[in-house]
Amino acid sequence: MAGERILIIEDEARIAQFVERSLIYEGYRVNIARDGQTALQVARNTPPDLVILDWILPGLDGLEVCKRLRAASNIPIVMLSAKDDVKDRVIGLDAGADDYMVKPFSIDELLARIRVQFRRVHPISRPEVLRFADLALDTGTHRAHRGERAIDVTAKEYDLLELFMRNPRQVLTRDIIFDRVWGYDFGGGSNIIEVYVRYLRQKTEAADEVRLIYTVRGVGYVLRED
Ligand code: CA
Repeated sequence: MAGERILIIEDEARIAQFVERSLIYEGYRVNIARDGQTALQVARNTPPDLVILDWILPGLDGLEVCKRLRAASNIPIVMLSAKDDVKDRVIGLDAGADDYMVKPFSIDELLARIRVQFRRVHPISRPEVLRFADLALDTGTHRAHRGERAIDVTAKEYDLLELFMRNPRQVLTRDIIFDRVWGYDFGGGSNIIEVYVRYLRQKTEAADEVRLIYTVRGVGYVLRED
């Protein structure tokens, strides 16, 4: 699956860009907001998987942003602050932050603490074999089988097939597929989903095998039996 989305809420451009570069390098997707109001808007429009939140912000301060984000969701929030008193840390954590880092911070430590938050939210899942009809997908080896027949899939084909296998009989809209597999917006004209569905059908539907991935015209696709 595509990298987790992280929202950086920080008014100091230098710090925001430095953190952004490091996060992108690690494979995360990043949004930046420079003040609290904008941050809440961005969080509503493009829900992040984790928030890095500076305490001192113009307008709504980080504490207030933290409380409002927390009221709306339980995503991990890592708070940054130059305030290093124990009492300030307590205030930050009590406002709903999951972690608190004092500026100046080490980027390696920030990355490690982000990984801790994601491990907490998504404990490492053991490899498993997802099954639908006679199709099987091993999440450890990334190999697929249809009955006894082994199927090799590329990385993107795997991501797409895993999404179908984890959501059988559910219509997956093009938007959901874009977001979960490609992780960014293509704009209107792209036919990349169609292309990859065609690849998957070529691989998963040998001559004597029935179709499993169906087109729902104008909406998206669904893994189902006829
Ligand atoms: Ca600041």
